[in-house]
Amino acid sequence: MTDPELSPAAPAGRPELSPAAPAGRPELSPAVPGGGTAPVTVRALVARGSGAELRVERVRLPAPGPGEVRVTIRAAGVCHSDLSMVNGTLAARFPLVLGHEATGVVAETGPGVELSVGTPVVLNWAPACRACWWCRRGEQWLCADTTAPTVPRGETDDGVPLHLTLGLGALAEAVVVPERAVIPIPAGLPPEQAALLGCAVLTGVGAVRNTARVTPGESVAVVGLGGVGLAVLSAARRAGATTILAVDVAEAKRDLAFAAGATDFLLSDDRLSKEVRARTESRGVDHAFECVGRAATIRAAWRLTRRGGAVTVVGMGAKDDMVSLGALDIFHSARTLRSSVYGSSDPDREVPVLAAELAEGALDLGVLVSGTIPLDEAPVAFDRLARGEGARWVVTLD
Ligand SMILES: [Zn+2]
Ligand SMILES: [Zn+2]
Repeated sequence: MTDPELSPAAPAGRPELSPAAPAGRPELSPAVPGGGTAPVTVRALVARGSGAELRVERVRLPAPGPGEVRVTIRAAGVCHSDLSMVNGTLAARFPLVLGHEATGVVAETGPGVELSVGTPVVLNWAPACRACWWCRRGEQWLCADTTAPTVPRGETDDGVPLHLTLGLGALAEAVVVPERAVIPIPAGLPPEQAALLGCAVLTGVGAVRNTARVTPGESVAVVGLGGVGLAVLSAARRAGATTILAVDVAEAKRDLAFAAGATDFLLSDDRLSKEVRARTESRGVDHAFECVGRAATIRAAWRLTRRGGAVTVVGMGAKDDMVSLGALDIFHSARTLRSSVYGSSDPDREVPVLAAELAEGALDLGVLVSGTIPLDEAPVAFDRLARGEGARWVVTLD
């Protein structure tokens, strides 16, 4: 999901390092009488409630049923939407396994699955049904069969029914998901970069290519430089935008912004509109991308955009955060305001394209990865995310 990542909110409770859980890889599913396989016990990052301390716990996942696969996770990003699950921004059910941006390898297949064991995949948190009115129109990102924010599946080690973030729960040693929630990718990609294809990169690149359709020579402002905002910057650069203004409240994002492709970095303060106009012949930018998910930054993005320009809202905000715009301003400015859900993309078609670009070196996601950490340190990554530090922290598992 997309990231409200600009203003570092004070974390309600500092997630502490979880006590060392027993190490170990996902257990192989032993054959059970009757030909099926058994549930597996794996370690996973679990939130027991809103604001509760995050802990790595052992959880039980069912054996893959018809049309399902078990994927051994190799890397999983910590996305702002995971934080939104635990800080009350999104309605979630607990206990909840966090994580929805990951790559791994198919480890076991249920009946009727075409993919074979050993296939490297990226997880897809919004698999399209391909049958509803939107899917048939080619608007898979608006599929009527939407994944709920939390989906019941499996149980905790002490027998409590478990929920999975966006049906995945990817901050874990393994997931058991429908085959349509995985997308095959080439072998050999750096896992900490491939993981990001499933959320931050697909969202950021799609916002530029599919939603806004930035063309060579255009000017762009990107408000909010978390993982998605940085992905938007680099995609704008690759789309041929010539003025690429990166905007954040944190001066610490300056170097990251330039590394991702910005031509200028601006602090989000009272002078912002003036500074943007000074760089766009007094007009404002052709495209502003809001990658925070707040009314205040949506209004800021609106003001940075030229008459007739387009504001693309990529950040996912809260339902009671109201955006106020003047009726005369809406008419006179002739701006377009629209959102980009999952990059207005068809992940099954576009993730393989991005994966191929990554394999060829045409897409370099190194700047998006602030660091890799073991699963036990994932709570610390949430803490850093809440403070707005870095781009993406990625949990890696061997
Ligand atoms: Zn996400
Ligand atoms: Zn559909």
